Amino acid sequence: MLRQDGFLTQNGHSSNGVTPRITRQGASTRAVHGGTERRKAFHALHTPIVQTATYTFANTQELVDFMEGNIWGEGSDREEYGRYGNPTVASVERKLAKLDNADAGVLYASGMTAITSLLLSVLSAGSHIIMTDDCYRRTRQFALTFLQRLGIETSVVPMGDYEAIEAAIIKRKTRFIVSESPTNPYLRVADLERIAEIGRRHKVRTLIDSTFATPVNQRPLDWGIDFVVHSATKYLAGHNDLLAGVVVGQADRIAALRDSRGILGGIPDPNTAFLLERGLKTLALRVEQQNRTATAVAHFLESHRRIERVWYPGLESHPDHAVAAAQMSGFGGVISFEVAGDLHTTGQFIDRMQIPYIAPSLGGVESLIEQPAIVSYYDKTTEERLALGIKDNLVRFSIGIEDTDDILNDLDQALAGF
Ligand SMILES: *Cc1c(COP(=O)(O)O)cnc(C)c1O
Repeated sequence: MLRQDGFLTQNGHSSNGVTPRITRQGASTRAVHGGTERRKAFHALHTPIVQTATYTFANTQELVDFMEGNIWGEGSDREEYGRYGNPTVASVERKLAKLDNADAGVLYASGMTAITSLLLSVLSAGSHIIMTDDCYRRTRQFALTFLQRLGIETSVVPMGDYEAIEAAIIKRKTRFIVSESPTNPYLRVADLERIAEIGRRHKVRTLIDSTFATPVNQRPLDWGIDFVVHSATKYLAGHNDLLAGVVVGQADRIAALRDSRGILGGIPDPNTAFLLERGLKTLALRVEQQNRTATAVAHFLESHRRIERVWYPGLESHPDHAVAAAQMSGFGGVISFEVAGDLHTTGQFIDRMQIPYIAPSLGGVESLIEQPAIVSYYDKTTEERLALGIKDNLVRFSIGIEDTDDILNDLDQALAGF
């Protein structure tokens, strides 16, 4: 049957696209089939790009029926205006929710739009949030500047210090605990069960930025976390060719966020949603390859005499290895390491690498390499960077899907130049 929105329904299964027989399958099956309608408009296999800014009503009665449906909260299986929703966007939202074992998801035009829209939607003047350090610089900036101006205070606590999180809670004021896991650049891993438990006991909501893990390696909602956010720009889209972000969680909370997105306006365009859905189909394949190569690279680097330190949660030497091993099914594709050199010679090592591009970002099919001291903290002196925990000889390597041996050989030749 062809529904009003152009999608075909099959055997009367629900219009939200959930096909019960695929919900509990593995990550790769869910990445390909999760959340998508089996029958689509024009019998197309792929979700169509519904490139429209608005949607039409046949007559006034149809519009009245639609408005009645909205008022009585019954929802509707059609769209009204492009800022409120789009079928291509909705399709990828369902897939992202499936991958994270969430009820629902809401897609945004970037990872930062996802984070800022979520916090703006739930916080008000006088409220307080707790944020772990070693988190995305722009997230921290948003809290410490924009939210501060709106009368929302932020306590920044050391990653991994759960007593400090609990001690920072202010009764009736603290609304959110915000953390990343794994973090950037030191790949610190939060004990999600513990953070969720602290949140529940104090009636404080918990948010994990799970960008570095992807739903293939970690599903924070399974540990009791309230909201998960991803920069879909990274692994989820996976091809270094678009920006998007997503928040997933419980149905009623996500519905409220979708309403607020209609006001704040951060919906991505349908082309971006199409590319994201296309990229997601290979998510598990890509991430498994990246996990494998990163593990091999981490061990190679750890035993290399020109490397002073390697940060990878899959290594026993990493401070959070135990919690990562218990909580994650793979350790991800990003490795940070310190080479035996200074700001200048570290740059020379990077320049000798032939496979990775020098670029910020991570998670795509192409390997990317960067020196955080230059990419993120160029405006600071060596001493100021050290105070922030960023050494001049630190390198962040985002492993792509190139062959493991080629990446190992590339590192080997670049390190031989010291
Ligand atoms: C990139 C990134 C963001 C921001 O996402 P954009 O899509 O670039 O806006 C947020 N958190 C983490 C951990 C990131 O890596």
